[in-house]
Amino acid sequence: SLAEKLEGVFKRLKGRGRLDEENVQEALKEIRMALLEADVNFKVVKDFIEDVRVRAIGQDVLESITPGQQIVKIVYDRLVELLGGTSSQLKFGNRFPAPIMLVGLQGCGKTTTSVKLARVLAKSGKRVGLVSADVYRPAAMEQLRVMGEKIGAPVIAADSKQNPVKICVDAVEESKRKGYEVLILDTAGRLHIDAEMMEELKQIKSAVNPSEILFVADAMTGQDAVNVAAKFNEMLGIDGVIMTKMDGDARGGAALSLKAVIGKPLKYVGVGEKIDAMEVFHPERMASRILGMGDILSLVEKAQTVVDEKKARELEQRIRKNEFTLGDFREQLLQIKKMGSLQDIMGMIPGFSKIKSLKQAAPDERELVKIVAIIDSMTIKERNNYLLIDGRRRKRIALGSGTSVQDVNQLLKNYAEIKKMMKRFTSKGGLKALRRGNF
Ligand code: GDP
Ligand code: MG
Repeated sequence: SLAEKLEGVFKRLKGRGRLDEENVQEALKEIRMALLEADVNFKVVKDFIEDVRVRAIGQDVLESITPGQQIVKIVYDRLVELLGGTSSQLKFGNRFPAPIMLVGLQGCGKTTTSVKLARVLAKSGKRVGLVSADVYRPAAMEQLRVMGEKIGAPVIAADSKQNPVKICVDAVEESKRKGYEVLILDTAGRLHIDAEMMEELKQIKSAVNPSEILFVADAMTGQDAVNVAAKFNEMLGIDGVIMTKMDGDARGGAALSLKAVIGKPLKYVGVGEKIDAMEVFHPERMASRILGMGDILSLVEKAQTVVDEKKARELEQRIRKNEFTLGDFREQLLQIKKMGSLQDIMGMIPGFSKIKSLKQAAPDERELVKIVAIIDSMTIKERNNYLLIDGRRRKRIALGSGTSVQDVNQLLKNYAEIKKMMKRFTSKGGLKALRRGNF
């Protein structure tokens, strides 16, 4: 997969000294290959690579990350842009009903997607009706009726002997009467683009004036999906794309090329045959998925903006010497608090989230305030050497912090555990990796 390939590239890049012409060039060669193999449009790849090159070369290597990661970050940022930047919402306008028209080739998933979309919109509180204008395949209307029934969405009955344009116009009228806010129009597809199909779609379009025309693209067809989408856009005009079958072993390249080639956003992705298997398309998530990095990048980013580099380096030194004191612990907890919840942060680190003892040792937000209060009640000496803290001192600290001796005991136990764990990390060079985000 693209993810695996890119991962290979970045592994090799780790530990390099600088972002220079040579290592950028090498990385780009690999990325270029990987993208082409993932079936991304040739011209898109060319522009992408050139853009990353220009951005990468001569950039100062941020202290907090390695050169390899820096390229990853540039690639990531550019991927997000390529995928459309932000999630793109459906427009409804202020007509009732807002007609949403689904178009595409036969078998791409229009009917399934119509019902998935009806479900999503109904869940968001809209009254949604469905209608099939596919008069060519007798089973098509029945399929929509059965699937719609499953989710309790009303499917407007239509006569397959009628003209598809009239079916749609009638359905709009019926929706007005029934008070539907959205009407999803499932249209007929053909095996290939043909003039007759396009003419029919154009007529439907001008008769109902849809709020959205969504092209349903089958991810399994790779570059073809993009070419067909481009044709539909040229001939009919589309507002966005829903890409189905992203759960299969589609190479993903189509999703990457879409926005760049036709300038229309991907709005949803279908990830299974089941009716709930559709997700809003998030460029950031898709980019991280393509890079196969979980949410590493957002972690690196967060760490970069929040953690004071110098402090982090000092801390690393101290941990290395096994001098991680309660004072450091307090500092760390406050840093972490700035970055978000501890659980969230650990969840972002692959593998790390699986370390059970750490999860247990991780305090929640409320707990955190308490822990900081307890440490605040300790003397500097106590903070620097927790072994000093005997029963008498524990009582005093509990009193001073408005907590109980049990709370103090628990904190010291957790701290000792974390200290032990940190030692284990440092002895394997793991802490450095952790700080730098090289996992
Ligand atoms: P239409 O001819 O465009 O209306 O396509 P259908 O909605 O009838 O879907 C064709 C086939 O694709 C059916 O077997 C669907 O179950 C399947 N399908 C649709 N969307 C997805 C998806 O996101 N993932 C998978 N795996 N299958 C899908
Ligand atoms: Mg259909």
